[in-house]
Amino acid sequence: MRTAETDYLVVGAGAMGMAFTDALIDHADVHVTLVDRRHTASGHWQDAYPFVQLHQASLFYGVASTVLGTGAIQQQGPEAGLQERAHQPEIEAYYGDVLRRRFVGSGRVTFLGGCEHRTEGSAHVVTSRVSGESTEVRVRRRVVDAHYLSPKIPATTPPPFGVADDAHVVAINDLARLETAATDYVIVGSGKTATDGIVWLVGNGVEPERIVWVRPRDPWMLNRAVVQPDPVVAFGLVADTMEAAAEAETLDDLFLRLEAAGVMLRVDREATPTMARTPTLGAWELDLLRTIERVVRLGHIRHVTAREITFAEGSIALAPGALVVHCAAEGLPSPPPMPIWQPELICLQTARAGFPCFNAALLGYVEATRDDDRERNRLCPPNVYSNDRASWARMQLLGAQAARTFGAEGDIVEWANRCALNPARLDASRRDDPAVRAASARAAKHMEEGLAGLATLADEA
Ligand SMILES: Cc1cc2nc3c(=O)[nH]c(=O)nc-3n(C[C@H](O)[C@H](O)[C@H](O)COP(=O)(O)OP(=O)(O)OC[C@H]3O[C@@H](n4cnc5c(N)ncnc54)[C@H](O)[C@@H]3O)c2cc1C
Repeated sequence: MRTAETDYLVVGAGAMGMAFTDALIDHADVHVTLVDRRHTASGHWQDAYPFVQLHQASLFYGVASTVLGTGAIQQQGPEAGLQERAHQPEIEAYYGDVLRRRFVGSGRVTFLGGCEHRTEGSAHVVTSRVSGESTEVRVRRRVVDAHYLSPKIPATTPPPFGVADDAHVVAINDLARLETAATDYVIVGSGKTATDGIVWLVGNGVEPERIVWVRPRDPWMLNRAVVQPDPVVAFGLVADTMEAAAEAETLDDLFLRLEAAGVMLRVDREATPTMARTPTLGAWELDLLRTIERVVRLGHIRHVTAREITFAEGSIALAPGALVVHCAAEGLPSPPPMPIWQPELICLQTARAGFPCFNAALLGYVEATRDDDRERNRLCPPNVYSNDRASWARMQLLGAQAARTFGAEGDIVEWANRCALNPARLDASRRDDPAVRAASARAAKHMEEGLAGLATLADEA
């Protein structure tokens, strides 16, 4: 078997592996070997549905050294006034460019694409899925797991229900490849992928009456207008969240207060959502989703045939020519949080709530600039991705506490304030802006009671 040597072996060239590597080589004189079973960088985006866009601003996505997109505010369309959001081809091209020019071009990163990583005892073996050749990679410093939080998407995850041979079931990707229009479109899923599918169908002229939405749980979603790269908006979001958490008596109460503050959105005002993965949604998308009246709430699907769908709590008939669209993959997973720095491994996770790219870049910076793992783990404790309302409260609590801890370090603050990925970025030019000062003061006013409220609510059964 061939052998190779490197300082860091990063397994996964998705958003997290890329952001970590970028910040690491920017701040430490090291060599990285980046391996991915996919043939190039960008991870799950290579299998995404072709009409997907980032759910949040492009500025928050990518690697710290290189801005994705132009940083422009949209001037036209339903989101005029909000930051641009990249489409899939732009995201893939961006990562390809960063990989080739910045990483490989620097001579400090070796990319092994189309290669599977595995351990054999304590050895790290990388095998090409193309040539079949294996290489043992000897790692001088650390192996980095950059796929622990890899999302599950419909294109690569089978539907979580039985499908009869005669059933017409496709993953959302296939909507863009239809040869014949369906009579009805049955969208299965309560998350962001489902909402993207509906928005796309209606945008392509499908009347809302032809769409059936199977929604076992109703979701809370985050209003895109409050997740923008602007410190007034960012402090405002913290202030609204902490104020609501300080005053709320129950999780129901918390989310209704956040809805009243314009932070959270729900499709159906008559339903009380219990799901809180909180993807980001535009107000125009919400209006459109509300036009779908054929909503099925009969629990999870058990089985689909050409003629009917059987649920945990009943069944519905399918019209001839109806197409069932699988949008029901898990999305962002919530495996148990574990220490990020371990003796043999760095396991990339989030520390502040959400924003995987900023978090991975932060971990790269901390790895490069600190030399004690206990200190690194103190600065960046692992967080969770939320699923329900209690875990959302926990994610906010842990994230705010972590941000306070790493935010007490002068160099990290300086780095983070230059990093476009940082949702809490405060550029020097805005520090004396009265609107920023007012929003920041309001956030500080509610912080302590808000954190105490989140701690109580996170424990609510
Ligand atoms: C539709 C959608 C829209 C989103 N929009 C946003 C957004 O607007 N803003 C935002 O911040 N986040 C967004 N996210 C979330 C964000 O994209 C993900 O959290 C992030 O991309 C995860 O990156 P990752 O590197 O952990 O995972 P992945 O992209 O899955 O990358 C992991 C890589 O590891 C490789 N790998 C795994 N095991 C091995 C092995 N043994 N050997 C070799 N390779 C291996 C895989 O091939 C894969 O390429 C979105 C997610 C989805 C699904």
